[in-house]
Amino acid sequence: MINTAAKNVTAPLVNVHALARSYARVRDRMVAAAHRAGRTPEDITLVAISKALPLANVQALYRLGHRHFGENRAEESHDKIRGARETFAPDEDPIVWHMIGHIQSRKAKSVVSGFDHIHSLDSVRLARRLSRFATEQDKNVPLLLECNVSGDARKHGFAATRCGANTEQWAALNEAVARITELPHIEIRGLMTMAPIVPKPEVAREYFSALRDLRDRLTTRFPSTRWEQLSMGMTDDFEVAIEEGATMLRVGRAIFGERR
Ligand SMILES: *Cc1c(COP(=O)(O)O)cnc(C)c1O
Repeated sequence: MINTAAKNVTAPLVNVHALARSYARVRDRMVAAAHRAGRTPEDITLVAISKALPLANVQALYRLGHRHFGENRAEESHDKIRGARETFAPDEDPIVWHMIGHIQSRKAKSVVSGFDHIHSLDSVRLARRLSRFATEQDKNVPLLLECNVSGDARKHGFAATRCGANTEQWAALNEAVARITELPHIEIRGLMTMAPIVPKPEVAREYFSALRDLRDRLTTRFPSTRWEQLSMGMTDDFEVAIEEGATMLRVGRAIFGERR
C-alpha cells in the first residue's frame, strides 16, 4: 500500500484522453504533410520523445499502439528502458528505443545495451567506443551521423556548414565516414540534424534541405553505405521536415504536452 502511494507521487496519472487526442492530431498532420509532398506516410517513422517524462507516459502511448520512443540522456533513460521491459508481456512488440542526445564516452556502453538506434553519432572517437561495446555485446547498432548544418556553436555534430565539394569540412567528413564504415558491429544508416530554434517553421526549411543535399552527396561518394534515413523535424517544424524528405521525426511536446 505504502509503495503504491509513493509511486503515485513520482508518477502522476497520465491523462490518456488528452494524450490520445494529441497523438492522433500529430499523426493526422504527418499524413497530410506526406501527401502534400507526394510521399508515403508509412515511409516516415514518428519517434516520440519521452525525455523528462516518467515511464507512465511511455506506457500510456505504448497502449495506444506506439512503438518508437526517443531519449536524450543515458542516465535518465536507463530506468525507463528497464521499467518498460518489465511492464510488457513477452509476446508484445518491444519498444524500439532511439538515442537522440549527445553521448558522453563513459556512457557509450550503457547506450549500446539500452538503445536500438543512435541518432547522435558526432565523432569518430565515439564511433570506436560504440563499435567496441557493440562487438562485446554481439549487437549490430544502426546509427546516424549528427550534422551541424546551421553552424550554431552550441550544437553537437560534424561541422557541415560549408560542405561544398572542395572544402576542408567536406574532406574531414569524408575522412570520418571512411573511418566509421571500417568499424565492426555499427552501421551508418543516414544523417540527423537539429534545426536552430526559429520564429517560423518555414525558416528551418533551408537546414533540412541542406541535410538532404549532404545525404545525396554522401550517397554518391559512399555508394555501399545505406544513407536512407534523415532524422529531422521536431514539434515546431516536423511538417516542413517531411516536405524536405525526413524519414524520422523526433517529436516530444506536440504529443506529450509542454515539459516542466
Ligand atoms: C527534445 C528533443 C526533441 C523533441 O523536441 P520537441 O520540441 O519536444 O518536439 C527532438 N530532438 C532532440 C535532439 C531533442 O533533444
